[in-house]
Amino acid sequence: MKQRSFVMLKPDAVKRRLAGEVLGRFENRGLKILAAKLLVITPELAKEHYGEHSERPFFKDLVEYITSGPVLATVIEGEECISLIRKMVGATNPQEADLGTIRGDYAIDTGRNIIHASDSETSAAREIALFFEDSEIYDYSMPDEEMIYEEP
Ligand code: UDP
Repeated sequence: MKQRSFVMLKPDAVKRRLAGEVLGRFENRGLKILAAKLLVITPELAKEHYGEHSERPFFKDLVEYITSGPVLATVIEGEECISLIRKMVGATNPQEADLGTIRGDYAIDTGRNIIHASDSETSAAREIALFFEDSEIYDYSMPDEEMIYEEP
């Protein structure tokens, strides 16, 4: 089943000029970018996006980190892509992330783990709606769809 995920390159990824390289991993895998924009997240949006963590001790630092510079917010589509992208992203703590994952290859610290990706269909729908208008999300076909999927 085709799914959409909300994937965000955090301010450390943008400042370290890793955004293109990381997005390229998703493109190379065969996933499709439906929307992308660079923006500085307001504290209000940060608190809403990470609402489930509002009582956690790291919440204040997380809001400061995620609002500290531009992020690259994207919507990515593909077969069962929510879990696929989470596997490509790796563990929350980069020290525990496998080599070959994005966090395992590019990050060291949980508080600077360079990327966010939705963890379920429910959170993907919520997060996409928080960051994008429907008119900013583009549906289009890939010319090599048959090379990516046996049954496109
Ligand atoms: N985070 C943190 N310290 C922690 C746990 C999480 O700074 O002890 C931050 C980290 O940036 C993480 C984000 O909070 O990516 C959201 O945490 P979550 O458990 O949802 O991890 P994720 O889904 O991003 O792997």
